[in-house]
Amino acid sequence: MTDRIYLDHAATTAVRKEVFDYMLPFFTEHFGNPMSVHSFGRETKKYLEAARETIANCIGAEPREIMFTSSGTEADNWAIKGVLKGQSKKGKHIITSQIEHHAVLHTLEQLEQQGYEVTYLPVDREGFVDPDELKKAIRKDTILVSIMHANNEIGAIQPIDELGLICKENGIIFHVDAVQSAGVLPIDLKHLPVDLLSLSAHKFYGPKGAGALFVRKGTRIESMISGGGQERGLRGGTHNHVAIIGMGKALELAVLEMEENNKRISKLRDQLIDGLFERIPEIRLNGPRGDKRLPNNVNVSIKYIEGEGMLLHLDMLGIAASSGSACTSGSLDPSHVLLAIGLTHEIAHGSLRLSLGRENTEADVKKVLEVLPEIVKNLRSMSPLYEG
Ligand SMILES: *Cc1c(COP(=O)(O)O)cnc(C)c1O
Repeated sequence: MTDRIYLDHAATTAVRKEVFDYMLPFFTEHFGNPMSVHSFGRETKKYLEAARETIANCIGAEPREIMFTSSGTEADNWAIKGVLKGQSKKGKHIITSQIEHHAVLHTLEQLEQQGYEVTYLPVDREGFVDPDELKKAIRKDTILVSIMHANNEIGAIQPIDELGLICKENGIIFHVDAVQSAGVLPIDLKHLPVDLLSLSAHKFYGPKGAGALFVRKGTRIESMISGGGQERGLRGGTHNHVAIIGMGKALELAVLEMEENNKRISKLRDQLIDGLFERIPEIRLNGPRGDKRLPNNVNVSIKYIEGEGMLLHLDMLGIAASSGSACTSGSLDPSHVLLAIGLTHEIAHGSLRLSLGRENTEADVKKVLEVLPEIVKNLRSMSPLYEG
């Protein structure tokens, strides 16, 4: 690798070496279509099913409850759109939060156009959904609740056990977008009252192009992609078996190393936060501190300057960060997540997300602490808003 510093692991991660090596023979040697009955196909199928079993074991599910998809976005779409018809007698009301990923929010906006009614729960100043707010929002015609496990911008970890219990008591299907938390936080679906859960390989050092949806046994879900009989006839299309097999290996390793990794990375996170606070006046942390924050997430707002300006200057020095979610940077609208935790447009525009990962070291943190305060000082000296 070069001496560039990558601090955008919430957007995507590099495929780790062990995973890459594991995947390689499946491109050229073990290439059979897993739906074929000959030995080439059977061979691929064996590994595909082993990946399903591994993923199931990693999250306390049964292999038959794991459906392969092409991405976290597809898993979110499928989870939400796939359960509506089965609930049509009950109603058309869905509950979510204001800080979901666009894969969930834009799906729900589309459903609103089709006559569904959506309640967007507010969050508190740290980004948490209040279980009492969920209770209050539930109606007779509520058919689905979709709340993310951990937020991709500010790292807030939601009380999904408590929220799930409320759904269960009310007989409502509960979907969790766990794309940021899979491989980072323990997930045990044997005990978690969750019916549907999405994950995505490229967020935990697996390849892009593979995701999974957990569908609890007994939860009726409709097919979204018609075609061959793949995924028990529910999702047609020849499997991207190389990526799926890589996803299994990546999640296995992530879960194995979870505790050790989190200990090391959360220490770097806190060094980064504390260091920035010591060196930069008028800075605020977005999202909570401590255990209820993703171990790899730092998100700060720095008054009087634009996040994009900081990003460009960091990038020139070889440091990759983000001003929010990768999907919204480049647009002028401030992040919906930062607005939901009560930031003004002006403050939200001055925010920066640094998401750490397994390759980062203390030297990387030191480097950021060296250069970012200088960048801020320079940008502020040019800002008409800043009085010094
Ligand atoms: C990245 C992300 C997604 C989308 O996953 P893709 O595999 O990139 O489509 C969905 N939800 C959250 C919380 C994410 O961070």
